[in-house]
Amino acid sequence: MQRHPGSPRNQAADRRRAGLRLGALAAVTLSAARLGVRCPVKAVLGIDCPGCGGSRAFLALMRGDLRRAASENAAAVVMGGVAVSYLIAPDLMREAAVMLQRTAARSTRMAWWADHPQASACVAAALWCAARNTRQLSFLRSSAR
Ligand SMILES: [Zn+2]
Repeated sequence: MQRHPGSPRNQAADRRRAGLRLGALAAVTLSAARLGVRCPVKAVLGIDCPGCGGSRAFLALMRGDLRRAASENAAAVVMGGVAVSYLIAPDLMREAAVMLQRTAARSTRMAWWADHPQASACVAAALWCAARNTRQLSFLRSSAR
């Protein structure tokens, strides 16, 4: 079967697949949290990983408690908002991503990062992890100890 990436039919299929993946990820994460499964990074190293508090943040959002969600994991709230926005308005989010990438590519310092989004995401996650485990920024840690 030949694939036409830009066709509306394939875009709808991509959205469905993305929605299913997000739903599956949420189901696994929330089930693990309900079963009392702790984060392996936190269990071994005693520090918050970039995702620590993400499921509690999601549950708080489901109750409409944005303040609690942000206190559990602000980055997860932002990333969840981006993911949901992509599902609701994929064309708008794609345009925004292209605009952001073009803006970054114009800067000599940001061009490499714009060409390497996976590396950018890894560095952002590492910086988030470092920030929330810094004593001076302890308010960024999740509530679970
Ligand atoms: Zn964790």
